Amino acid sequence: MTRAEAIARANEYYARRQSEINDELSRREREIRDALPEVRQLMDERAELPVKSMRLAMADRPNAAAVAAEMRRRGLELNAAIRKALAEKGYGEDYLSPRYECAACRDTGYLSGQVPARMCACMERRISALMSERGQEGAFGASFHMFDESRVPDEPVLEGLTQRALTVRIRQACEDYVNSYPGTILPGLILSGQPGLGKTFLMGCIRTGLEEKGVCAVSLGSYKLLQRLRAVHFHEEGAEEAFDELIRCPVLLIDDLGSEPVLKNVSEEYLCVLLDERMRAGRHTVITTNLTPPQMKEIYSERVASRLSDVRFWDHLRLLGKDLRRT
Ligand SMILES: [Zn+2]
Repeated sequence: MTRAEAIARANEYYARRQSEINDELSRREREIRDALPEVRQLMDERAELPVKSMRLAMADRPNAAAVAAEMRRRGLELNAAIRKALAEKGYGEDYLSPRYECAACRDTGYLSGQVPARMCACMERRISALMSERGQEGAFGASFHMFDESRVPDEPVLEGLTQRALTVRIRQACEDYVNSYPGTILPGLILSGQPGLGKTFLMGCIRTGLEEKGVCAVSLGSYKLLQRLRAVHFHEEGAEEAFDELIRCPVLLIDDLGSEPVLKNVSEEYLCVLLDERMRAGRHTVITTNLTPPQMKEIYSERVASRLSDVRFWDHLRLLGKDLRRT
């Protein structure tokens, strides 16, 4: 992908973030208006404040500055009262504040107040990710309708199920995951199996499917993931922000987990943090791996393995059969 294309894609992403943030905020406001009438009153007063004080100022020109100052004062007072009321009712005082992934640019991709507009570090990262990783990654542009079941052997692999029937079933589960996003039954999806069974292809289908829905997933191979985890450990510049993006992005796709060299106490520590944070927040995460759960325990540790075997978070789909690249 060229830089110009990557910038265009990044801009689309930020535009989508803005509308997501607004939708979420409106939803919360409606919820609070219904649930807490006393807060609704404060919100109504705050909404009327600018027009009201403008009228007052026009009617009383000599005192316009004082009226404006009074409006600001009352506005701050109302904000504080709203926050306090929300906290008292157990909502958290920021419940009606926008949630940004990046505090620096407020998810616009640009730093405000700069002329000419300067790109935020998060946008630079997004652009370089678009230009490098995504272009090279396997199965880029794969989509569910490209799946050709006739290429999959129709021989039994599991309790009367053939490889073809099993693969068709798993493909359907992946498509269901995309179609029901963000309301998937479980937020996590692990696609496991020997090399050559179509895991990376299916992950590519998921990514494309989500993109078609307007959801921009962050996807990376496990080697790239390792590099990012190491960078945090060694305090490299920008590493924390990049790691934070992995924690907070709405959808994270990790291809071929376990194929990277594992650095005990380094990658593992941060991998646990990453998994904990995403699982705690219920953020959508898809992982492909060649490893079986016992191998996972061997290569990483009990800690990583136990997180990945949490059936409350992960739907684990196991592909079985012959390498499709050799059939
Ligand atoms: Zn930013």
